[in-house]
Amino acid sequence: MLNNKYCHDYSYKIITLGCPVNQAESASLDAAMQEAGYRAVESNADIYIINSCAVTKSAARKSRYEVRHAKKENPRALIVLAGCYAQVDAGEIKEIIPEADVVIGTAGRSRIPQIITEELQYKKPGKRILVQKLHRDEEYEEMSITSRFPRCRPVVKIQEGCDEFCSYCVVVHARGKPRSRDPRRVIEEVLRLAEAGHKEIVLAGTHLGAYGRDLGRTSLPDLLSRLDDLKYPFRIRLSSIEPMVVSTELLETMAEIDRVCNNLYLPLQSGSSSILKKMKRRYTVEQFAEIICQARELMPDISIISDMIVGFPGEKETDHMQSMETVRGLALSKLHVFPYSPREKTPAARYPEQVRPDVKKRRVEEMHSLGEALALNFHRRFIGSELRVLVERIKEQQDGVWAEGFSDNYILTRFPIRKIQIKEGDMIAVKPEKAYSWGVKGIVID
Ligand code: SF4
Repeated sequence: MLNNKYCHDYSYKIITLGCPVNQAESASLDAAMQEAGYRAVESNADIYIINSCAVTKSAARKSRYEVRHAKKENPRALIVLAGCYAQVDAGEIKEIIPEADVVIGTAGRSRIPQIITEELQYKKPGKRILVQKLHRDEEYEEMSITSRFPRCRPVVKIQEGCDEFCSYCVVVHARGKPRSRDPRRVIEEVLRLAEAGHKEIVLAGTHLGAYGRDLGRTSLPDLLSRLDDLKYPFRIRLSSIEPMVVSTELLETMAEIDRVCNNLYLPLQSGSSSILKKMKRRYTVEQFAEIICQARELMPDISIISDMIVGFPGEKETDHMQSMETVRGLALSKLHVFPYSPREKTPAARYPEQVRPDVKKRRVEEMHSLGEALALNFHRRFIGSELRVLVERIKEQQDGVWAEGFSDNYILTRFPIRKIQIKEGDMIAVKPEKAYSWGVKGIVID
């Protein structure tokens, strides 16, 4: 057994599933484990922390798989299952995942290093379930990232929780009510990352656009303006933001502040207003179209990326055709298409008229190929223009060395380089020459 050795002798690995908020939390956990003296490794760790996701059935299944896989990799390891799946399905986990030694939900994760040390020193037989019920007066749990972030585009979490209660969504049960991070903590963290040389910072939250509502003295536009005062060359990207909280003030602020990327990740979910009603989404197709119209007036090159749920209970063929028509009419830039996945504890899972799997599959394919065609159209618009690309990967290929990364408006851009010139994390001007549904290929503008 492991119980007589101390922190610096123990290695750990963090496995992250799900959304950018989870990525930011794992980066904070990583920093906290390092601070506690534990050693990060890529495999065969003494300790595994699985930061899980519950948004769909397959995400929950993947969370269980990662727990079992870790135990297979090192049967003597201590396994910590944390995050949304642990919060939502703690009861089930107790029964079906004997491999998880410690189960901790979405509250109290900042204590994980201490809990692990206690487990290593005083390991008692059996599973330790530390999933707390999320209270209405839950405070924002500060978990900060040091300057080390495992990616070129660090994610800074600024908000947690949601009170929209969309009928298909389990996230509200996993994350509790909306609560915002102290803007001073956000600014400190962004400053640390910018000082460390990061050229792009992604701001993320469960309900990002609701930032500041609970604090009453700030808002997302206000935070963007304060971040713009920082004297470092970095751009800010907003991760997914719900249409019901996108204000004219936010769009105008995005247009005014040059360092804010002209890219909106705006989940429409359905292009049929009757289905949106069933989803309990607080907007209509017309209101969604109005936001896009305003955004394009203010930022003509803006990309609008969207999530679509296909095969929602009660979705008739006419709803699906209307949804396709809406998406085509809005000329969205990129689609993420998901087949509706019934999640326990959500009202929609009990709705009648669940759509047959084969019908759902066909509709997903149709919506997906429409998305591909729209993405190609959007990318074609930038042939011959100039894109600012943050280099994220450099690859040796048969036809030479290539770099790739995203532009301000989130176009995946690939271009050949002479190795000495460019490194990961550099911001490069690129002229696109050929468009594809996945992005563009171009050349460096000297
Ligand atoms: S806005 Fe809706 S879909 Fe998004 S987290 Fe809240 S309840 Fe879930």
